[in-house]
Amino acid sequence: MRLASTGGFLVPQSLRMRIFAICFIGTHIPLLSFAAREALRGQVAWGDIGILLVATLIGTAGALYGIHALLSPLKLSIEGVASIGRGEPVAIGPVAGPDEISELLRRVNEAAASVHSRLSTLDHAAHRDPLTGLLNRRGFFAEVDPLFAARIGGAFAILDLDRFKAINDRFGHPAGDQVLRDFANRLIAVCPRDTIVARWGGEEFVAYFPRTEEGAAQTTLATLLIGIEEVPVGPPGLPPVTFSAGLVEAGSEPIERTAERADAALYAAKRAGRAQVLVERDLVARAGE
Ligand code: GH3
Ligand code: MG
Ligand code: MG
Repeated sequence: MRLASTGGFLVPQSLRMRIFAICFIGTHIPLLSFAAREALRGQVAWGDIGILLVATLIGTAGALYGIHALLSPLKLSIEGVASIGRGEPVAIGPVAGPDEISELLRRVNEAAASVHSRLSTLDHAAHRDPLTGLLNRRGFFAEVDPLFAARIGGAFAILDLDRFKAINDRFGHPAGDQVLRDFANRLIAVCPRDTIVARWGGEEFVAYFPRTEEGAAQTTLATLLIGIEEVPVGPPGLPPVTFSAGLVEAGSEPIERTAERADAALYAAKRAGRAQVLVERDLVARAGE
């Protein structure tokens, strides 16, 4: 039993042992008083004292068991508070009972649920673009980093809406916002399910196609380009908004370098007349001709 000095008295550190010490003192003072009185009278009844001692020992064992049972939920609540720190949704299993310790455990569970829900809201706000609901740049990195680290390869594209400023200027900012929202939905709809799509900023979007050849990703983006020329994005009455894209093979370099290469291909697409998807590999091949 570890002892600690508190306020000048030596008291056990464990709460269980402290409660036990209080009970022990409480039950033994009458016993010792009785034995002392007997001794003073000079007529010690060892038989009575023996019975009392055995009864006290049995009572003590019962008290120890009761204290252990009463206090064990406290251990659960300590573990519960630790899991709140980890942001887990439920700290402890279902808790029934009208006593204060059950109430404490229920409150720990409520706190865990509330902290988890707030963390999820904050996490969503930190990783999503509020206008389109797509991942933002931070969210994109969070999802793509582990895939790049595992070098699973694939294709990476940057898409930029063509002459988008003119849409804002002619039809107003809300119409421009509608174009961005619609475009985001159409991009998500056309890409395979495992594609990680994000709003890179302004009227620029990125898409990472894991384990995909550039040719397949190019076909996907070309389908989108034809789709938005046939059925325009944005409010009715707008001229078709197109996009240009730069597409590169991904996986052998860090994301930042991959994005720089895709950006170079995108600007080549802009220079080549917009409304097209340019693959870096084709550009390099053409330059070598
Ligand atoms: P380019 O074909 O060369 O890309 O021309 P552009 O007009 O698309 O490019 P520019 O960079 O000149 O203009 C981008 C415009 O996108 C300017 C900015 O006001 C607009 N924009 C950026 N973010 C938003 C947004 O959240 N909502 C709206 N409505 N417009 C935005
Ligand atoms: Mg741009
Ligand atoms: Mg643009």
